[in-house]
Amino acid sequence: MHTRITPPEAAAMLALALQGGHVGPEDTALVIHDLDRLDARAREAVAAFPPGTLHAVAVKANPLPPLLRRLAGLDPALGAEVASLPELELALEAGLPPGRIVFDSPAKTVAEIRHALALGVHLNADNFQELERIDAAVAEAGAPRGTVGLRVNPQVGAGAIAATSVAGAFSKFGLPLDQCRGQIVAAFAARPWLTGLHCHVGSQGCTLEQLVAAARAMVALAGAVRAAGGRVQAMDIGGGLPATCRDDDPKPTLADYAAALRRGCPGLFAGPHRLVTEFGRAIHAGAAFAAARVEYVKEYGGVRCVVTHLGADMFLRPCYNPADWHHDVAAATPDGVLKPGPATAQAIAGPLCFQGDFPSRRAAAAALEPGDWALLLDAGAYTMAMWSRYNSRPMPAVLGLSRGRLEVLRPRESVADVLRFWRGQG
Ligand SMILES: *Cc1c(COP(=O)(O)O)cnc(C)c1O
Repeated sequence: MHTRITPPEAAAMLALALQGGHVGPEDTALVIHDLDRLDARAREAVAAFPPGTLHAVAVKANPLPPLLRRLAGLDPALGAEVASLPELELALEAGLPPGRIVFDSPAKTVAEIRHALALGVHLNADNFQELERIDAAVAEAGAPRGTVGLRVNPQVGAGAIAATSVAGAFSKFGLPLDQCRGQIVAAFAARPWLTGLHCHVGSQGCTLEQLVAAARAMVALAGAVRAAGGRVQAMDIGGGLPATCRDDDPKPTLADYAAALRRGCPGLFAGPHRLVTEFGRAIHAGAAFAAARVEYVKEYGGVRCVVTHLGADMFLRPCYNPADWHHDVAAATPDGVLKPGPATAQAIAGPLCFQGDFPSRRAAAAALEPGDWALLLDAGAYTMAMWSRYNSRPMPAVLGLSRGRLEVLRPRESVADVLRFWRGQG
């Protein structure tokens, strides 16, 4: 199955939702996930990596509980990567045992560390100060129930997108390998419970070469740790595999990545350690699209401005950082029929009150008219997950399609839901 929902597929899914009575007059936007495609991506990851690998899917990419439950039930090789207590609770509620949960965060409190150690998740410490907090917890409560790793910045260079690159010379995350190699090796030798190495290179802007170079740096570091008497039982290579978001710029697949690792870093797949990955967008991005109803179209000064019902509330990244982030757009009629017609340059505007509110500044789709639907593709990762309360618009309904059947994954928020959010009540 193709990694991305194509425009005809998106229109057919929208038509199904319309015919099935899932779209009322108040549904000015909706999100539809292709659950079979999500399964296919997760299964591709499982098949591409050696048996025993844990694929801890990044919850921040998409925290919707039905999706987490689905992944948890699909294969015992699938787990969750979390970076906050609520994400940890979401993973547990999805039915994952602690052993399939990886807890990463650069800002773990003492209480969070103690909770995670007692629960038995795999915890990746970010720095030496955090290791000292774990020392204290272990001295008091005994050995951790789960495994503990240490995050390293492999310093393989920044990717194409500065805000999501974490392996340049400087990063907010982990210990810089060049400056800290000796101290890292010593930290392992001194701590029998420290048995994992962790890195994560970035998100979307990284090349396969960078990802493979990071793995090579980690394998070399593991060798140095073992030579000094330390143990490395888990090698967590993070996520960061980009997702394709333009037909003319295909990104490597999960299978391509695994093949590149096998070729470029044989020690990773053959070593005496368990592999852990933390893919987010490569699993989720192409498995969903958003449909936003067109309210008005204004054409002045050579700009065709299509005003829709989704903007920076759901598409934060392309609105605030349009040079780095892109979503293809397709046009469908009010009945969900893909609109034929020449690609027309048009700006897809959202409903929010600021001038940067354009999920796509130059969409090449058939001309949209009021009542039509703008289909924003590849919306399965870092979209709903980054929902913003700016202007207090309710989140649209989220539907899931599997084997021809649609179900509601999350109902449309009501006005009362939003009021409750701001009041801070139940
Ligand atoms: C964001 C993040 C991921 C997931 O990144 P993707 O680009 O979605 O694969 C994995 N691990 C860590 C530590 C992250 O911060």
